[in-house]
Amino acid sequence: MPAQSADNWLALPKVSRPLATTDRQVLSITTAVDGVEGEGFLVRRAFAGIHHHQLDPLIMMDHIGEVEYGPGEPKGTPWHPHRGFETVTYVIDGEIVHRDSTGGGGTIKNGDTQWMTAGSGLLHIETPPESLVMSGGLFHGVQLWVNLPAADKMIAPHYQDIRGSRVRLLSSPDGGALLRVIAGELDGHRGPGATHTPITMVHATLRPGAQLTVPWREDFNAVAYVLAGRGNAGAEQRPIRMGQAALFGSGGAVTFKASTTQDTRTPDLEVLLLGGKPLREPIAQYGPFVMNTQAELIQAIEDYKRGRLGTVPVTKAAPGQTAPATEAQREHHMPK
Ligand code: MN
Repeated sequence: MPAQSADNWLALPKVSRPLATTDRQVLSITTAVDGVEGEGFLVRRAFAGIHHHQLDPLIMMDHIGEVEYGPGEPKGTPWHPHRGFETVTYVIDGEIVHRDSTGGGGTIKNGDTQWMTAGSGLLHIETPPESLVMSGGLFHGVQLWVNLPAADKMIAPHYQDIRGSRVRLLSSPDGGALLRVIAGELDGHRGPGATHTPITMVHATLRPGAQLTVPWREDFNAVAYVLAGRGNAGAEQRPIRMGQAALFGSGGAVTFKASTTQDTRTPDLEVLLLGGKPLREPIAQYGPFVMNTQAELIQAIEDYKRGRLGTVPVTKAAPGQTAPATEAQREHHMPK
């Protein structure tokens, strides 16, 4: 797994062992459901079955792979809009090429995270690079949607390209777990991603049999999703495996344990630990727009149809790429 790592976990700064606090109980273990995204790639809807009040300020997350594509199989999305929230794309294996209506773009790969604040809106396209389409190959990643507070929904679009090498690496006290702080802060250790809505995003790797208890801000919610492997969540050791999410109750710490026996292909327990300060604002969502009221949604759709969220940059279209959409096509085709 080419996510960021270190040769000697014990040499890394340690996350402190929480003392005199309540270990959060597991409220639910839910299993992701399969979905289809973009031009036809399979995703797992990671937080299916968790009520949006309990996810707030997170909206949803898609887990793609780990999958070994054959030649010609990798697919992406067509051009599509967003407004009112942030998309966070974390690529563990493989690559995604991204372009947008402002002329921006780049490649996300090997532990990189792209933090896109859609704000008032833009159009973008997310595709595997041509070389990966030709050859096929391994792909593994997630896309998380983080809500913006009402006051920030119409700010100018903004990107943070968080290279894998910049994530903050920590280890558990006994060195059995590696923690990558991607955004926000864990136990005083700040990751490179800056967030409009206070959240923490950590990718933890637990060796077989390892136990991890990390301090977690009392004012944040906490949800963990298993990217690979199996183990237990919470002090009460609820079994959890790849494709399942644990929603935690209140408290100052969260605990995980990796099963002593793992698959040979995924030798460790890989967990994405997420949480944030709930916004407690009304949500009105239609596909790729997440606003506060129906009137704002109608405005977003109208602005999109009229090209106010940007237009597909014709000159930048490469051979074989999706042709610029007409207004009629854009109206018809509005994926996430
Ligand atoms: Mn998108």
